[in-house]
Amino acid sequence: MKVYFERRGEVAVLQVDNPPVNGLNLAMRRGIVGGLQRSRNDPKVKVIVITGTDRIYSGGADIREFNTPAQTAEPHLLQVIDAVEASSKPVIAAINGVCMGGGLELSLACHYRVATPNASMGLPEVKIGLLPGAGGTQRLPRAVGAELALQMIVSGEPIGAEAALKAGLIDRIVPGDSFQGVLDFAQELVGRRTHPRLRAARALLPRGADAETFFNAARARVARQARGQISPLKCVDAVEAAVRLPFEEGTRIERAMFLELVASDQSKALRHAFFAERAAARIAGLPEGTPTRRIERAAVVGFGTMGGGIAMSFANAGIPVIVLESSLEALERGMALCRRNWEATAAKGRMTAQQVESRLALIRWTLRYEDLASADIVIEAVFEDLAVKQKVFRELDRVAKPGAILATNTSTLDVNRIAAATRRPADVLGTHFFSPANVMRLLEVVRADATAPEVLATVMKLARPLKKVAVASGVCDGFIGNRMLEHYVRQSLFLLEEGASVQQIDKALTGFGMAMGIFAVGDLAGLDIGYAIRQRRYKEKPDVRYPRIADRVVELGRLGQKTGKGWYRYEAGERTPQVDPEIEQLVAAYRQETGITPRAIVDEEIVQRCVFALANEGARILQEGIAQRASDIDVVYLTGYGFPAWRGGPMYHAESFGLPKVVEAMQRFAALPGADAAFWQSAPLLAQCAASGRRLDAR
Ligand code: NAD
Repeated sequence: MKVYFERRGEVAVLQVDNPPVNGLNLAMRRGIVGGLQRSRNDPKVKVIVITGTDRIYSGGADIREFNTPAQTAEPHLLQVIDAVEASSKPVIAAINGVCMGGGLELSLACHYRVATPNASMGLPEVKIGLLPGAGGTQRLPRAVGAELALQMIVSGEPIGAEAALKAGLIDRIVPGDSFQGVLDFAQELVGRRTHPRLRAARALLPRGADAETFFNAARARVARQARGQISPLKCVDAVEAAVRLPFEEGTRIERAMFLELVASDQSKALRHAFFAERAAARIAGLPEGTPTRRIERAAVVGFGTMGGGIAMSFANAGIPVIVLESSLEALERGMALCRRNWEATAAKGRMTAQQVESRLALIRWTLRYEDLASADIVIEAVFEDLAVKQKVFRELDRVAKPGAILATNTSTLDVNRIAAATRRPADVLGTHFFSPANVMRLLEVVRADATAPEVLATVMKLARPLKKVAVASGVCDGFIGNRMLEHYVRQSLFLLEEGASVQQIDKALTGFGMAMGIFAVGDLAGLDIGYAIRQRRYKEKPDVRYPRIADRVVELGRLGQKTGKGWYRYEAGERTPQVDPEIEQLVAAYRQETGITPRAIVDEEIVQRCVFALANEGARILQEGIAQRASDIDVVYLTGYGFPAWRGGPMYHAESFGLPKVVEAMQRFAALPGADAAFWQSAPLLAQCAASGRRLDAR
């Protein structure tokens, strides 16, 4: 871990080497400043190059340094950046790959930037509730104009070398396999007298735009997308300052907003979410270095909604996949769907026509089980029927090669019973993808009783190339996410019965930050799914109270968007929920019939009842060991259920609210007129932690 200094002719090369991401910790900051001094004092040096190692330039701040004395020790990143910009000898950022956050801010202070073709440059601070705090919001608009800068800073998404060159963020693309391109560029600068400094430039608006209109429109757009998160709006303020104010003033404003955001609850929650996602990849009790199996070929059984999305995920990862179906028509339908999806992505400019074809070419199809014999993993996604799935697994047991992993995408069935259909239950586990499977990031990895550690470890690792966030779950009805969801849905239906309206409940939940209201979600997924589950529950759990209002809706043939009517009505071909007076009448009639006197319910009660219902069931799931950590449960909700990231997830939210206060609120809800008191029994773990002041994950 150091900054290497090497002089090559008239060029001094400072190479930042701090694995894994070349984080700019104290040693790196000192190294860069030391290298600049040494270059200044060496008359032979005419040009300075800052670069990284392997495929990483710098990932920005070193998160391992957070909250340690080294974080605040001098030189700070801002001082390093000032020193770079003030250097009398020109400095080139030779961006050799990932260049993020503070790494890009450092590059923006350099007088020139060159990048290898694989480079990726971005300011992702917004994703942890911050904004770039080392001049990024002031220099980037000066480099690429306000429009692109705003897009990059507000979304946190990086751009590649080509786009960076076009936008003027870099001066040249240099070959990635040799350093000669950088040295040649450096040599061209020798003898040049003046060098550009972004702080001296002006930040530009798009041609013809006036600042007032431009930033008002940006603010409106960002506010809509932010779902209550503050930092994206602060990013807009900062870029506006870059356009309207002198550099020094803009930087002061950026700094002040950065400090405010660092201390905010939202940023704390987002950092929790960031670390929670990393923690989820680790399986408690599975030793580091548990061997994993190679996954070079995949197979999918069933090419319907889920099978199609799963096959696309493999192809997107460059893993060849073979799909088995029961008929040729189903295979053709599945292929057509994959093509349509990819072509839609290409139409948005996010893929080339050639990529569409090469991904399609990675998907082969068959009607014969024997053709699955070379697959390293098979994922079953046929109808949700135990007998059908067991039959598929018997076939897989017959044909799959030894050591192949056999996975089921079941949402509700017992993975142990599916595994028992084979003679190799150690190779069987659940991979619960979410719909649409090629888009949704969550993957619940369901560990059955006999699942071998290396099988589990392999699938957890496979999540990465598939671009999924894997969370381990034990076997239970609904696993982590859907088991909790049932409680959330039940509460929303109780609230409807008691006096809230469909749209009030949905609005309260989106006001809290949920991506969608629960009734709109039901319409999207199809109300028949919940109906079938409830019919089963009435028999399995006759003592549990279920709100029956939802059954009435389904029994009218209102199954959601697919029938044009559900909790809302939909215009033909549209997905926007419209309030339907028929539902209002239905609800009113239902209340009258069942003797419920509706009462006015405030949004706060709606949100608390729905969200605490999640947390309470989450605590049971944690206590039973179905989930390994409370933070894993948060990850499930953040990546699979549209829970607002800036609230950290249902468990984090409950803890931030205060577990004793959550318990108190649940007691209050239990005492409301017509309440289902049994529902509000505190999970023992929640009650214990509330009483002892311990955190859920510190048991
Ligand atoms: P689907 O009806 O869209 O697709 C099922 C496909 O399996 C059909 O194309 C059918 O032809 C095929 N099939 C049925 N029996 C077969 C057999 N014996 N051999 C080969 N192919 C066979 O269903 P789906 O929504 O894709 O669900 C598949 C699985 O994924 C189910 O277990 C479901 O519970 C689970 N799941 C669904 C969702 C969702 O939102 N749809 C989410 C998570 C998990």
